[in-house]
Amino acid sequence: MPEATRIFLSPPHMAGTEMAFIQKAFAENYITTAGGNIADFEKELGRLTGAGNAVALNSGTAAIHLALQILGVTAGDEVICPTFSFVASANPILYQQATPVFIDSEPTTWNLCPVALENAIRARLQLGKKPKAILVVHLYGMPARLAEIMQIANQYGIPVIEDAAEALGSAYQGKALGTFGAMGIYSFNGNKIITTSGGGALVTDSTGFVQKAVFLASQAKDPAPHYQHSEVGYNYRMSNISAGIGLGQLTVLAERVQQRRTIYEYYRQALALVTAIRFLPEPPGAFSNRWLTCITLAPDQPVTPDQLRLALEKEQIEARPLWKPLHLQPLFADKLYYGSTVAENLFTQGLCLPSGSALTTTQLERITTVILKQFI
Ligand SMILES: *Cc1c(COP(=O)(O)O)cnc(C)c1O
Repeated sequence: MPEATRIFLSPPHMAGTEMAFIQKAFAENYITTAGGNIADFEKELGRLTGAGNAVALNSGTAAIHLALQILGVTAGDEVICPTFSFVASANPILYQQATPVFIDSEPTTWNLCPVALENAIRARLQLGKKPKAILVVHLYGMPARLAEIMQIANQYGIPVIEDAAEALGSAYQGKALGTFGAMGIYSFNGNKIITTSGGGALVTDSTGFVQKAVFLASQAKDPAPHYQHSEVGYNYRMSNISAGIGLGQLTVLAERVQQRRTIYEYYRQALALVTAIRFLPEPPGAFSNRWLTCITLAPDQPVTPDQLRLALEKEQIEARPLWKPLHLQPLFADKLYYGSTVAENLFTQGLCLPSGSALTTTQLERITTVILKQFI
């Protein structure tokens, strides 16, 4: 029997039109961080999300870094950040020599808990430390509880940055994620719902923020005929080649969201009879792109998430633990944390299943057969 091909967690899925945009860049000889593809990509991303303005960058991490810099986050400032996220949410806070204040998740979305958020803000205010920004993450594509979070942010006058790296195509009450805060960011890394091979974007309705982002992302050049600099800048712009890949990918974004949602539905139905396996339904008002289908396993049954992961691995199927809470990472061992053990329990009980939009029904059957076998 030939060896089964490996099933990856979330591989790139090309539309087929990307090469035409790359050819255009070659024809125009814009093999650089300027050119028509970048302008078109920014315009189309701004239109599709309703954000108005988008700045194409070379990573989502860079976009978070610029958003913090634009809000004036600097050495000694505190920035609120969910503990349940990828390290890239919090690293840019350290780049600014600021301090992350980590907040627990709540169980209906797995994202930032509004109660713990308000407790943290009050506690910091009492110590005379007003948080400079609130970073909200929409993990695995699921919208955070934005109504409550935005209300709290407005009440205390703290600007919000949305890390929608995993949530392009998701919406809350009909409005695209990334467009609620002062700024939103997306990632086009190879494993995200669409890719530019590596890239990111910052979106905002403020043209002032757009100008500042472009300025900082291209080495902060002052307006002068020679090279004149008054502040620190970065080399964060997206390449015109990458933007070409992105233009092809944007044409199929809606289709990719539908495909991922269908995959979630397939898993939910195929595994419905296993009571130990739990899914995360969409709360009212939430529309998730279902970037990754994640499950949690009931703690009082014999199969652990790691046993399940290893059983899948044996069959050449990649599954991954949920994000390890950042306040439990050695890197952030000395940082503040507000909350209890919601995120920690998700980490110990959860597993991300293969969710690539190109998965076939045959592959999904192969995956669910292995999973079902562990529970009989
Ligand atoms: C992928 C990701 C990022 C970083 O995006 P890059 O483009 O890889 O730099 C940030 N936050 C979250 C939640 C992510 O999943």
